[in-house]
Amino acid sequence: MTAKTGALLTPTGEEPREWQCLTCQYVVLSGTLPYKCPRCGASRVKFVVLGQSGEGGE
Ligand SMILES: [Zn+2]
Repeated sequence: MTAKTGALLTPTGEEPREWQCLTCQYVVLSGTLPYKCPRCGASRVKFVVLGQSGEGGE
């Protein structure tokens, strides 16, 4: 019975990630995939996630 008004819209489990544009190497910190690169305007398909947790391979 904890029906409180959601003052903070902070969905758990959705942490900000670093998205890097492969075209201009620009890095965007966002919880979701950027719509497009704010720097060069490349589409979202050009973005990759940096620092993926869980994989420490070389
Ligand atoms: Zn870019």
